[in-house]
Amino acid sequence: MLLQNEKKIEGFLTKLPLVHAFKTSFGKESERKILIVKATKGEYSGWGEITAGELPLYNEETISSAILALKEFLFPLALKCGLKPKCFEEQAERFKGNRMAKAGISLALWDLKGKIEGKPLWKLYGGQRKEIPVGVSIGIQRTVDELVERISHFWGEGYLRIKIKIAPEWDREVIRIIRENFPHLPLGVDANSAYNKDDFELLKSLDEFKLLFLEQPLYNNDLYFHSLLRKKINNPVALDESITSARKLEEAYFMGSLSIANIKVGRIGGVREVLKASKFGNDKSLPFFCGGMLESGVGRAHNLHLASLPPFVLPADLSETKRYFHDDVTPEFTFSSPGYISVPQGDGIGVEVFEGKVREKVILSF
Ligand SMILES: [Mg+2]
Repeated sequence: MLLQNEKKIEGFLTKLPLVHAFKTSFGKESERKILIVKATKGEYSGWGEITAGELPLYNEETISSAILALKEFLFPLALKCGLKPKCFEEQAERFKGNRMAKAGISLALWDLKGKIEGKPLWKLYGGQRKEIPVGVSIGIQRTVDELVERISHFWGEGYLRIKIKIAPEWDREVIRIIRENFPHLPLGVDANSAYNKDDFELLKSLDEFKLLFLEQPLYNNDLYFHSLLRKKINNPVALDESITSARKLEEAYFMGSLSIANIKVGRIGGVREVLKASKFGNDKSLPFFCGGMLESGVGRAHNLHLASLPPFVLPADLSETKRYFHDDVTPEFTFSSPGYISVPQGDGIGVEVFEGKVREKVILSF
């Protein structure tokens, strides 16, 4: 039993089986390890999720590196700040990198603040949307027929746009067949940085398919070569991996490297960075969509609140829970109307987190 003002912060590494294995240009995942942060003050608990993978394939962080960062310097800082998000986010800036680890704490502290103040996060953030338009991101399949079948399935369910993962050998011909089957489908493609500066011809040849966007075609940390590519092609360039902070978003904009930003709270280091990016996006009329990292319900709920901010005008990578997990740690997220998921209206993240389920499959708690 905690005393009234006792403050505590904990981490849980747990795992959830995926409904479908997810393959990208990085590799294949059939089970997802989930790293959850819980911050407790008196009778209130806030929850956050850290979206690092097991290997540093998406960015330089890993689950193990995040656990070390939490234990050695981020949990102590959160406690020193009295579990207040503003203090934590300002002071965590002097620690370089470790953005996903910082974001997991930032989210938990914001949830805690929302619960203590009796307000939903979207209100604290200044969000405006009550329902978030959503799309679906489909990994690399074994055959093109399977991909066509999966696209038919999700398009039939009402998702507002389809994004497919591409990689060398699974690109132009695959997109051509999809376009043949679905001439008017709102279609984006995501390369997860699988191409390089010698591939401009190939990437230019995708213009004829009239894509909604070509996401992160080049190097994960690049802005310059993307700015050159963007001048040569007609499909809008969306950046994901390259945008590692609100300031990087500004650089990308002023260099002409992107037309659309995929914003992920984990990648850019927390709520404060998303709010800064959102202000910039709003000023410049730069459209955003909220990206996904195969989060559990904790991360999904947070993403819905963030996607209520004004620049997030494009369908988010936030699908219904049944698409991902059999047995999530929150109630399921389902369409409120076809292609839309409601922003939860309770205090903080607005959904219950089933602590029993978090603990049931726990691999490590600290
Ligand atoms: Mg991406």
